[in-house]
Order: sequence, then structure tokens, then C-alpha cells
Amino acid sequence: MTEADLRAEIVARCKELDARGLNRGASGNVSARIGDAMLLTPSAIPYAALEPAMIARMPLDGEYGAWEGPLKPTTEWRFHLDLMRARPEIGAVVHTHAEFSTILSIARKPIPAIHYMIAAFGGMEIPCCDYACYGTAELSAAILSALGDMNGCLMANHGMLTVGADLTRATWLAFELEALAHHYWHVLQIGGGQLLSEAEIATVAKGFASYGVQSRN
Ligand SMILES: [Zn+2]
Repeated sequence: MTEADLRAEIVARCKELDARGLNRGASGNVSARIGDAMLLTPSAIPYAALEPAMIARMPLDGEYGAWEGPLKPTTEWRFHLDLMRARPEIGAVVHTHAEFSTILSIARKPIPAIHYMIAAFGGMEIPCCDYACYGTAELSAAILSALGDMNGCLMANHGMLTVGADLTRATWLAFELEALAHHYWHVLQIGGGQLLSEAEIATVAKGFASYGVQSRN
């Protein structure tokens, strides 16, 4: 994929996040790896107004946080950069303040194995990282620590993020995470539900791997 194609895809995915109600104003951000750099959404531009030329570019090595672009990158660039540096298999990161994920993050409630789709995240529970102010090294460290080698987490009093081998995968996981958060929020209203066992989730993870919906990237 050329850089121009990837810029266009980032814009398309951002508009899809908007259209499907996962994004609020200019609050989310998206990144995608290209060679030894990443492309990421700019600061303070609503997705409705986003154009491919506005996407910033940041090297993964070299000077930490250096960037190129007509607009400065999202103020939340640190965790995108740190995730891509820490996990070479990550090709894209999607972060949103989606409603039900954010509600659960405020309650600091990790999402347990309420549905077999949790297997797509590579574990038994979608964790919630500790709170730290947006844009800080502390928040980035809290995310990396909570996420481990999984593909999605809640961010305390903030929102959620997902990672994937590419933008298609990371965006799909963002929709799935918000769906799980929506289900869990409702289940909590009726007093809780029955959770799936580790063996049941392991069976699903094996099935996903065999038809390409891998439990990990
Ligand atoms: Zn945010």
C-alpha cells in the first residue's frame, strides 16, 4: 500500500467511526504504520473535515515525537508511538471516546467473558488501564501495562483503544469492543450474567484462528 493509499484509508476509517457513532467531535485518533514511520490523525480536526493531506507523519525511531505535516499530530501521539515501538506486529491503533466503553471506564469495570467475541481480543477480560492525564507519558505507560499482548483495553475515565495488524482489523475491533461494552452495560442493569469459561473461550479462539479471525494479530 502506498502512503497516499494509507492516508486515504485513515480518512475513510475515521469517517466510518463517525458514521457508526463511535467518535465524538475531534476526540478520537487513529494511526497506521508505514515502513519505519507512522501516519496519524491531526490535533483538533473533526473527522468530518479531515482530508488525506492533513494526516501527520512521525518516525518510529530517531528523535522521539518528531513529526512532519501541515498540522500537528493528535495530542495523544505518545501512546500510538509507544505501542508501535513496543509491539512490532501492531500496524494500526484506533482510540475513541465511544459512549459505552467510556461509561465502563468511568466505573473502572473491565469487561469479563460475557460473550465469545472477547476471544478476538486475545484474553479472558478486556482490561481497564489506570487513569493518567491525556497526552502524558504516564498514560502511555498505563496503557502498555494494562494491554500487555492483548488487542484492546478501556482507559479509565477516558475511553478505549484497539490495536491490529492493519487498519481494517483495528477498526473492526473498535466496533466489537464498543458492542461488548454496550452488552455489558445492559447486563449490569439486570444484575449481571453468566460468564464463559476459559475452555469455552479457548475453543472460540482456535476456531477464529482457523478461519482468519485470529485472537491475536
Ligand atoms: Zn482520548
